[in-house]
Amino acid sequence: MIIFSQHDKAKDLAFNATRFFEDESCGQCTPCRVGTAKAATLMARGEWDAERLEDLCQVMADASICGLGQAAPNPIRCVFKYFPNELEG
Ligand code: SF4
Repeated sequence: MIIFSQHDKAKDLAFNATRFFEDESCGQCTPCRVGTAKAATLMARGEWDAERLEDLCQVMADASICGLGQAAPNPIRCVFKYFPNELEG
C-alpha cells in the first residue's frame, strides 16, 4: 500500500509509476518495452491524450508476457477512473 497526501496529484503519481515501469521493463516483449516508454512520453506533456493512452494501456495489459507489463496500465487507468477532474484542461 502506498499512501499519499491530499496535496499530491494522482496524475503526477501515475507518471512517476509509469517511468518506474519503463525503467524496470526488461525489454523482452514489445508491448511493455515500447508501451511503457511511449506512455511516459505522452504523460510528460501537460495534457494527456486519453484516447492514445487508453489504446496503449489495452495493448500492454493484453499482450505483455509478464505481470510487470500487464500491471503497467493500472496507474494510468486509475487516473481515468477515479481522478478524471485532473484531466480537465
Ligand atoms: S512484460 Fe515482462 S517480459 Fe515483457 S518486457 Fe515487460 S518486464 Fe519484460
